Amino acid sequence: FNTERFGQHILKNPSIAQEIVEKANLRPTDRVLEVGPGTGNLTVRILEKAKHCTAVEMDPRMAAELTKRVQGKPEQRRLEIIIGDFVKAELPYFDVCISNTPYQISSPLVFRLLSHRPLFRVAILMFQREFAMRLVAQPGSSLWSRLSANVQLYAKVDHVMNVGKNNFRPPPNVESSVVRIVPLDPPPPVRFEEFDGLTRIIFSRRNKTVHASFQAKGVAEMLEKNWRTWCSEQNKVMEEVKMKEKIEGILEETGYKEIRAAKMDLNDILKLLLAFHDFGIHFA
Ligand code: SAM
Repeated sequence: FNTERFGQHILKNPSIAQEIVEKANLRPTDRVLEVGPGTGNLTVRILEKAKHCTAVEMDPRMAAELTKRVQGKPEQRRLEIIIGDFVKAELPYFDVCISNTPYQISSPLVFRLLSHRPLFRVAILMFQREFAMRLVAQPGSSLWSRLSANVQLYAKVDHVMNVGKNNFRPPPNVESSVVRIVPLDPPPPVRFEEFDGLTRIIFSRRNKTVHASFQAKGVAEMLEKNWRTWCSEQNKVMEEVKMKEKIEGILEETGYKEIRAAKMDLNDILKLLLAFHDFGIHFA
């Protein structure tokens, strides 16, 4: 295990560890999921407030240290350590997720949490500052991106605090920030793969017009293939289709042809998605 590869930067500032856990407003009945507990600086504080904590840790040496830290104490029975990769681990039920994880798994972490059912109540997560800023970015701002749109479709995201690199041992190369993620309940009735398929196209060049993005190589071909699959699933007679013209028509009709993704908000993107769906055109 290599410090850099597994992002083993231990949070050494106790008041920041305390603050992160406080931001979750834990209830005595809560079951908490922690990803990458390391030596347990957040874990011991979680166990003070919550009923139970499941901690997923990939490095057996870290898991051993954490085990030692609670050994023989009453909280030992309320902590379950899963040794393994969070990305592959089977997740238990949890009300709250608290984590200071290696930044390599930031994206998989967020999307895995948001697709987990039943939905959790809140997640307090530490990320590389740049990633955190993209999570909370608003439409029209310079950091508004595919990540911002994909996450904000399913959750409300707030910035909680900045954490400088000197609060960690060893200090990482980047600054960090903590965010709060509250999933929308019920979630919007939109398949993630569909929404993500559209944002992948329009944010591929966020400052070009939607029209230009749809003209990129392979896009019309991909949509035509999806359209054919959809037609055969619906037992629809497949007329010949000029997909490029069809796309033009939809962009024209919805009024998004000359708009840039950088300026589109969630409603705009959803409206565009539904207009394509009305014509049987799918993105996944
Ligand atoms: N949470 C602790 C803290 O705040 O002091 C440790 C933070 S350290 C940045 C990240 C921890 O995640 C390390 O203990 C590392 O071994 C663990 N880790 C790395 N990749 C992981 C993965 N894919 N699944 C679970 N844990 C992982």
